[in-house]
Amino acid sequence: MNERHAPYLMDTKATFDCATFGFDNARIQEALSVLGLHAEHAKLAERIRSEATEGEAEALVHSCCVALARERSFALIERSMGIECFTQTWTRHLRDYGQDFDTPKYFGERLAIAAAFVRAKIPLGILQLQHSLTQQALINNLSVKFADDTATLRPLIDCILKLNSLDVYLSAEGYRLPQIDELRKALTRLRKETSHWHQEASTDQLTGLMRYNTLMETLDHHINMAHRGHDGRSGSPLCVAMIDLDFFKKINDTHGHVVGDFVLKHVAGRIQAAVRDFDMVGRFGGEEFVIIMTSTHLELAKVIAERIRKGVMETPLHLKELSIPVTISVGVAMLRPGERKETLIERADKAMYKAKEAGRNRVMLAKDTGGTGDTGDSETLPEL
Ligand code: GH3
Ligand code: MG
Ligand code: MG
Repeated sequence: MNERHAPYLMDTKATFDCATFGFDNARIQEALSVLGLHAEHAKLAERIRSEATEGEAEALVHSCCVALARERSFALIERSMGIECFTQTWTRHLRDYGQDFDTPKYFGERLAIAAAFVRAKIPLGILQLQHSLTQQALINNLSVKFADDTATLRPLIDCILKLNSLDVYLSAEGYRLPQIDELRKALTRLRKETSHWHQEASTDQLTGLMRYNTLMETLDHHINMAHRGHDGRSGSPLCVAMIDLDFFKKINDTHGHVVGDFVLKHVAGRIQAAVRDFDMVGRFGGEEFVIIMTSTHLELAKVIAERIRKGVMETPLHLKELSIPVTISVGVAMLRPGERKETLIERADKAMYKAKEAGRNRVMLAKDTGGTGDTGDSETLPEL
């Protein structure tokens, strides 16, 4: 056998997974029912095999090939697949004709033959012509044998017509697969690229956190959700924390802007490490960060803000022989009923500036309307 033709050969022992072609059991049953092929056709198919194809498959294929050879595109089969490979595949196809036609294996093998034809760039018309020649040859064969027994002949011919319809249908489906595959690949590629660009556009290069625009869009979305509440009736709590590095100018001045960038990256990492999985962290500006905490009351937001503050304070940045201590000031505000993001951010920002005024390295709360007192490192502000 010519090596060139090897890729198009059907391995007799291979079982073809027809799920690859989108055929599950339900779809197989649906196709059989549309074509009118039922359990009783199994016996007829066996009769066709024993009367028309057993021991005669090669002769049948040969006679079909003679007819096909008149077609101009038959030269394509010769060139791309090789006649030997073609006749072998077809002989096997005929030997199995109608046997266990309701199984995934039967479907898979016929779909795989069509897919092999597609790979060999043979037009679908040739494959379908071949099916109709086979059909004709089988009918002729049986018509001679049962010329005087129409009661036996009729159901056998009916079964051949149905099995042929199944072959024609599966050929067309097999030919569709490479197109679907290409389409699927193109869609996956597009989806990956889109998500890559979306990620690029929404992520801050230095810190890997959300960029300002995305942060604001996210905040808008969650504020709307919070106003609506989980049950669509009452609001659910939402807090934001505004974080600003203390004396960051001094770090830049002392160690240079590049080290300053390392500090920003380091702090972003500390913040990420201290928040909960579902908290959302973004870079608000140069050395300012915002955290969106959904379903969170002010008391809990304060605990989280404290954890962040301590985390940053207790983890100086080690860079070569340098150990650079960093602290942050944090302002926390809880969403008021009907409040927009601008005023919420403004209240958190004001609370953060109060933390600066109070000596930095601390958390300040913007009181919500019904807020209570505060203890520890945090301080409670009069309502802002
Ligand atoms: P304060 O405690 O009052 O916040 O003091 P500060 O020195 O941090 O003052 P401020 O917040 O006004 O300083 C912001 C500085 O952050 C000014 C700017 O040079 C620096 N900065 C802003 N963006 C970047 C950046 O991307 N990289 C670096 N290295 N520095 C930045
Ligand atoms: Mg600042
Ligand atoms: Mg600062």
